[in-house]
Amino acid sequence: MNKLKSVDQETIKILNQKKIINLLYRNKQLTKQEISQELNISIPTVINNINELIERGIVDDAGVAESTGGRKPTIIRFLPNSRYSFGVCITKDKVRIILTNLNFNIIEERAFDMPEEVQDFRSLILKIKDEIEDILSVYKIPFDKILGIGFSLPGTIDEEKLFLKNMTNFKVKNIYFKEFEKNFKMPIFIENEANASAYAESFINFKGYKNNLVFISITEGIGAGIIINNNVYKGINKRAGEIGHMTVVKNGRRCNCGKKGCWEVYASKKALLNEYKKEFGVKNKSLNDFLDMTKDNLKAKEILDNYVGFLAEGIKNIILIFDPQNIIIGGEVFSYKDLIEEDLINKVFEDNSLYDKNECNVMFSSLGGNAAIFGAALLPMESVFFLTGNVI
Ligand SMILES: [Zn+2]
Repeated sequence: MNKLKSVDQETIKILNQKKIINLLYRNKQLTKQEISQELNISIPTVINNINELIERGIVDDAGVAESTGGRKPTIIRFLPNSRYSFGVCITKDKVRIILTNLNFNIIEERAFDMPEEVQDFRSLILKIKDEIEDILSVYKIPFDKILGIGFSLPGTIDEEKLFLKNMTNFKVKNIYFKEFEKNFKMPIFIENEANASAYAESFINFKGYKNNLVFISITEGIGAGIIINNNVYKGINKRAGEIGHMTVVKNGRRCNCGKKGCWEVYASKKALLNEYKKEFGVKNKSLNDFLDMTKDNLKAKEILDNYVGFLAEGIKNIILIFDPQNIIIGGEVFSYKDLIEEDLINKVFEDNSLYDKNECNVMFSSLGGNAAIFGAALLPMESVFFLTGNVI
């Protein structure tokens, strides 16, 4: 009984400290009285917790505020450079690594092209390890100030077992990240790219609200991260949000998953590039070549128009399933966002008798191409500092 009681008290303390850090993160600085009022925690409890947080170096005492009668209140300030986190984003073409502070200010960024032989995943991890060691030696950040490394991966993952089940577009499967912890000598966290993006959006841009959002990540494939009342919804097999593989054309084009007619074969970045190559009979051209053509080539415009139509149909379906407050679009689609944004949002709501624009905000991520990598960096912070809801 006593043991149970002490565990509960420890849990309450951790939760209270996370609440205080979250509040200070948002407000930068507050008095102890304001913290107490805002969180409905007694002044002595606030003081105890603040003292511990000062000892851990996460907040500091920043002097006194003007008195409104009686003693002058002490200001407590959040220290964003008290800890750091690494975010790693692995995509088909590229690996990006960032070191960020607790305010998501990027201290350092590295990137390299994906090696040809991605199948050799271990050598890729060692390359990432070398970059991280180099960053640590350049910035001379003490090891105990680094919370860990978060990986954003374009595949099906089990975050509890640190298990990457597969990445369909890479032909990589069954990787246990646990075994890499000895290489990095710090905690490792993994998350699916769309879920990581949804975490970042929910925490950085919608903090403090009851979030209901679906983040649609459009890259080589398409995936969704689903936030319901601040919790990320993953489903019983942790596969919720694999919306790129919902069928939009019966007996349609063949997908990497083995099925036919999947949404991502029509609406991913790769789908757009493939359509261009097929229609124009070109092989070694890039998406940028195509995007240039859409300015004055009618056929190119038609391809883009058709593509946006497919994208809009899938988004309509997602709105019907989740009735979310926000649909946020991100990922590598950002390279042609300006060309499609207005048209896409119009197409989602035109001839739509069930929803109009005021009932669901469809928008592109304000984090630009950084949603997934910020989400990755958020994972180690979340375990220690922040409240991002539960996995349901
Ligand atoms: Zn598929």
